[in-house]
Amino acid sequence: MSKDATYLIVGASLGGAKAAETLRAAGFDGQVTLIGQETDLPYERPALSKDYLQGKAKRESIYVHPREWYDEHSITLRLGARVVGIDRAQHEVTLEDGDRAGYSKLLLTNGSSPRPLRLPGAELDGVHYLRTVGDSDLIRAAIAESSRIAVVGAGWIGLECAAAARLAGDEVTLLEAAELPLLRVLGPEVAQVFAALHRDHGVDLRFGAQIAEITGSGGHADGVRLADGTRIEADAVIVGVGISPNTGLAEAAGLEVSNGVRVDAQLRSADPDISAAGDVASAFHPLFGQHIRVEHWANALNQPQTAARAMLGQDVSYDRVPYFYSDQYDLGMEYSGYVEPGGYDQVVFRGDVGRREFVAFWLGSGGQVLAGMNVNVWDVNDQVQALVRSRQPVDQAALRNPDIPLESLIGS
Ligand SMILES: Cc1cc2nc3c(=O)[nH]c(=O)nc-3n(C[C@H](O)[C@H](O)[C@H](O)COP(=O)(O)OP(=O)(O)OC[C@H]3O[C@@H](n4cnc5c(N)ncnc54)[C@H](O)[C@@H]3O)c2cc1C
Repeated sequence: MSKDATYLIVGASLGGAKAAETLRAAGFDGQVTLIGQETDLPYERPALSKDYLQGKAKRESIYVHPREWYDEHSITLRLGARVVGIDRAQHEVTLEDGDRAGYSKLLLTNGSSPRPLRLPGAELDGVHYLRTVGDSDLIRAAIAESSRIAVVGAGWIGLECAAAARLAGDEVTLLEAAELPLLRVLGPEVAQVFAALHRDHGVDLRFGAQIAEITGSGGHADGVRLADGTRIEADAVIVGVGISPNTGLAEAAGLEVSNGVRVDAQLRSADPDISAAGDVASAFHPLFGQHIRVEHWANALNQPQTAARAMLGQDVSYDRVPYFYSDQYDLGMEYSGYVEPGGYDQVVFRGDVGRREFVAFWLGSGGQVLAGMNVNVWDVNDQVQALVRSRQPVDQAALRNPDIPLESLIGS
């Protein structure tokens, strides 16, 4: 590859940093530029709702690399710089300040953003979303200053924030429109485990909650009013109602967008010089035979590495089993696999669900393992992934029986 080539990466977070790192590791000696609108060094987000939010991790611990690393690897880091347009004909991007930057190849790792609540009062002070390290700082301060927190949305972010607020001693009311937390992602069998976990830790869970308004006084949120008239008093409101991929740039540039920037298994869009990876990408997954968009840390860690190698002309494709993890109170879990909402036949448990020490398997109609979640059970993730990858029917009695090693079921 020519020294004159410029590889430009838009989005300086985990995905962007990993792509830049891979380009250098693969021997690319042209220009690598990483442009990001945030002012912090590229960082990882999971701790923002866990250790960092709870004040147990330092800011430096979330950075992908220290500042010197970028200089040492001749990676130009342009932070606090927002890209506002892509000119595909000219092979240039435009920045908010009017500057332009050329590219030979362009990688979009510009991630996703929290979905805003569109309700009266949503703009009040004291209404928080969590995406950036700055958001996490503000929520940590709000938790410290408050005694009552309302959390809107019982997804992963909402649940982890609820746990952080409870651990800090606040009263927490968790408001969720569905009948259980994480219902769409996990289905009722395992969602109940998370409802019980939070109930046992003193969270006031309100399911089927339709929020009418965030109430306030003096410009600051002071509670939530539900459609049935119920009022919940709160000193701060944390909103976690999902995210949307940041597809505006790609769409305006005429690239195909369908719940993410549509790319092939090599992470390339229909424009041979533009790729996308991480939260923003809807990538064809060879294992599942369809495009999927994955909003997880492991995907942001690994997929951009494949994208970078494919941009260098290497014959690679991305087919890892989706993986994510969560920590709430004393519950740690890992989930591997892919299940569309409601897209499974049954859940099989192995272990002790009551003690929250088990592995759950989501089975398809052919008896194959679509996904597995190990809860407070460790060192089984490789086997769970192998079961998902095998796509073979598995003996359910054996799957339930913790005395039968999971390895022996792979490909059975
Ligand atoms: C609080 C929190 C906790 C999480 N916990 C977990 C967890 O426990 N387990 C798990 O698996 N996953 C977790 N995730 C999800 C995981 O962090 C994401 O999947 C991951 O951050 C995606 O990385 P990315 O690089 O694709 O995009 P992002 O991290 O979204 O980064 C994209 C970057 O691009 C920038 N950008 C966007 N548009 C532009 C533009 N026009 N110009 C310049 N820059 C731009 C953004 O500001 C951002 O810095 C968590 C996420 C959050 C927010």
